[in-house]
Amino acid sequence: MSFLQTFQVFPKVPEQLKFLEVLVRNLWWCWNLEVIDLFRRINPKLWEESGRNPIIFFTMIDQNQLDRLAEDTSFLTNMAEVKEKFTHDVMAPSADAGPRPRGEKEVIAYFSMEFGIHESLPLFAGGLGILAGDHLKAASDLGLPIAGVGLFYTNGYFHQYLNHDGWQQEEYPATNLYHLPVERIKDASGNELRVSFMGPDGIIQLSIWKIAVGRVSLFLLDTNIKENPPAIREINSRLYRATGKARLAQEVILGIGGMRALKAMGYTPVVCHMNEGHCSFSTVERLAQIRAQHQVDLKTAIEINARTTVFTTHTPVPAGHDEFPPDLVRPYMVPYETDLGVTADELVRWGQVEGTDPYRPFSMFVLGLHLAQDLNGVSELHGQVARRMWAHVWPRLPEEETPISHITNGVHIPSWISIENALLYQRYLGRDWSMSTWNSELSGRIADIYDEELWRAHEMSRTRLIRSCRKWMVQQYGRRNAPKSVMKEAESVLDDGVLTIAFARRFASYKRATLLLRDMDRFEAILKSEECPVQFIFAGKAHPKDDEGKRLIQQLVHFARHPLYRHKILFLENYDINIARHLVQGADVWLNTPRRPMEACGTSGMKAAANGVLNVSILDGWWCEGYTPDVGWAIGNGEEYDDHNYQDAVESQALYNVLENDVIPCFYDRESGGVPERWLAMMKASMHMALEGFCAHKMVNRYDTRFYTPGMERYYELTENGAARARQLNEVHDRLRNNWHTIAIETPERQTAGPFRIGQSLVISVVVHLGTLTPEEADVELYYGPLRDVDAVTGGKTQAMAVKEDLGGGTFRYECALTCRNAGRFGFTVRAMPRADNYIRFTPGLITWA
Ligand SMILES: *Cc1c(COP(=O)(O)O)cnc(C)c1O
Repeated sequence: MSFLQTFQVFPKVPEQLKFLEVLVRNLWWCWNLEVIDLFRRINPKLWEESGRNPIIFFTMIDQNQLDRLAEDTSFLTNMAEVKEKFTHDVMAPSADAGPRPRGEKEVIAYFSMEFGIHESLPLFAGGLGILAGDHLKAASDLGLPIAGVGLFYTNGYFHQYLNHDGWQQEEYPATNLYHLPVERIKDASGNELRVSFMGPDGIIQLSIWKIAVGRVSLFLLDTNIKENPPAIREINSRLYRATGKARLAQEVILGIGGMRALKAMGYTPVVCHMNEGHCSFSTVERLAQIRAQHQVDLKTAIEINARTTVFTTHTPVPAGHDEFPPDLVRPYMVPYETDLGVTADELVRWGQVEGTDPYRPFSMFVLGLHLAQDLNGVSELHGQVARRMWAHVWPRLPEEETPISHITNGVHIPSWISIENALLYQRYLGRDWSMSTWNSELSGRIADIYDEELWRAHEMSRTRLIRSCRKWMVQQYGRRNAPKSVMKEAESVLDDGVLTIAFARRFASYKRATLLLRDMDRFEAILKSEECPVQFIFAGKAHPKDDEGKRLIQQLVHFARHPLYRHKILFLENYDINIARHLVQGADVWLNTPRRPMEACGTSGMKAAANGVLNVSILDGWWCEGYTPDVGWAIGNGEEYDDHNYQDAVESQALYNVLENDVIPCFYDRESGGVPERWLAMMKASMHMALEGFCAHKMVNRYDTRFYTPGMERYYELTENGAARARQLNEVHDRLRNNWHTIAIETPERQTAGPFRIGQSLVISVVVHLGTLTPEEADVELYYGPLRDVDAVTGGKTQAMAVKEDLGGGTFRYECALTCRNAGRFGFTVRAMPRADNYIRFTPGLITWA
């Protein structure tokens, strides 16, 4: 019956309720608890059954009930309040008067392979997507002119089920378009807009969906249209296709297709932000667009593009970056030979590390690295790891100067906060609490919250979590046709009032989900305690190809069947945003056991912390910045190990110790008979820490002040007057590249005899042959620091040297006086680098040492 035609019937929405139809078509609703409350009060049971999808929900509501609501003044008042907030948050121009693009359709384009905005929108696999979703929500709150660019997946990421033996099964249910708040982009004459580009086997056509995320638009590219052959139509069925060819096609669609889609809709990105290397192809198409728009040659276009592109990396291991055989990439580059005026082979080389083997892999990271000026990791530690990992690109630059910085991730707190805590924040911090915590001392008022009240609020979240776990366990067992007795037990798993520890994350081996099971005697001792009972909830998906991860799930599930423990340890299937929300609100402890430094940042712990759920974690990712003894617990001291087996042994013991000696006694310390006062003090400190330090508003604000606004200003400066400034910079850059080799620096000499005392200065002079370059073009710097061994210093510092004497023929004597500030043995040398902005200054190769 594949020839069936379809139609869909929606309820007839009474005039008084028309605003609800606007509301369900903008995802703004999903981070405004008063709106969720408005939906839920219509029919709480149907709301849950609809999967908290308001579009489905409204098709389920009885027409009579809608008619009744239209007459219900209390509902209408409630709705009017929501409407006012919507008008303020979404329709009105933002109050923030920061610098903004000049043109109406000039935007900051934010590219990402996945966007996790709400569980009803299956466009994400995990943390990277949730981060992108939180980024857009915060950008909307702040009124930033961002446009999201991603892919539309017909099946999204897999749903996880376990078979009777605890082995993960994957299912890819199809997304029902009619249940999503999407809108197809049309052209001026009302036809669906099409964008195309040349693939290896012919033209690939795309249509574009738009989703409203508050003030922000998210554009999603779809290949599943009749113009495309079947193989192309199904490229975007799933997230992260595994075969090189399909995966590459997805990334080309995202980058090249995404930039073409923006152009076709009339948008010009003044700044592009690439969220992870998957998006790097966008720079190739952007160069072509810049060339056409500003009538410049390729090298000038590169000067503009790089200074207005932000590239965020999330991967702390080299193997985590996507690579493709160059032969697969080349066909996509051939059409750019005319647009860019270079050969496809040259374009392929942009994505290859230095080398001579033409078959060395094409790396999405390397492509992004060479075409973006602003590179960042996602936590302080990850920044360091990324600098070490990519130091080889700048072989003569000290590792700590590798031009990769960091902006620590944050979470969109209104999306993750429990309703009970939101009400407390509203009362104690003010109605606009979610917008005012990150830039003021307001969150300090959390300390004022009445202990009893906070504890009751948290207990309500825990109770809700436990009730939901029971419902989910019954469903899980039901699907596996479990015996009646097991079903019966599932109805009453877990206990109220018991210390509840959650571990929910991807089951990648480095996250070590089974670290707790390492020493069974010690783990069972904790589980058996009747005086201080503890219960555990696990959840998480293993990558479909990761049998090792699946084995970890199976191991946990087998253990959780033990008759003594199955009441207090469980594994929830199909970890998603909804389960995450319940866990980060209702657990008492959030457990995190990565192998340092594999966790680039981690964000679930921030969601937990904002709710007063205390983190117990290895010092890795964000926890290195968030941890203090008054907000949670550290496992170990941030050590790194080569021997994983030994590491697991040491760190599992440390974990048992922390639980037994600190966490459990603190939770059950109820001397005054009532609430756990010490625990509550930590909850408040943790909430304060998360609200002030790790919210997405703060993160997006940092991207704005460090990258977006300066990038935007550079864009105008570079492109004005026929791109005069960009052309000039290109000449400067060219001259430096062509003449840099003429620089030579002789051995620097100390003019003053030592030893020295603190406060004394020594004069250092050096003869530098600048060759064809001038002192205005190169900075000559003294480089010095404490000696690590005979020929290396640690934490080197620089000091500018000035021309003391022109020796003629391009040779100069430079001098500076260095004041001794610390005692110890020091080493020094001299180097020259371009005197220019960061993009030119950090051109690999443009550095010379004495
Ligand atoms: C927050 C979140 C993540 C990311 O959490 P990590 O700490 O990086 O593991 C993954 N999945 C879901 C559903 C989330 O809500």
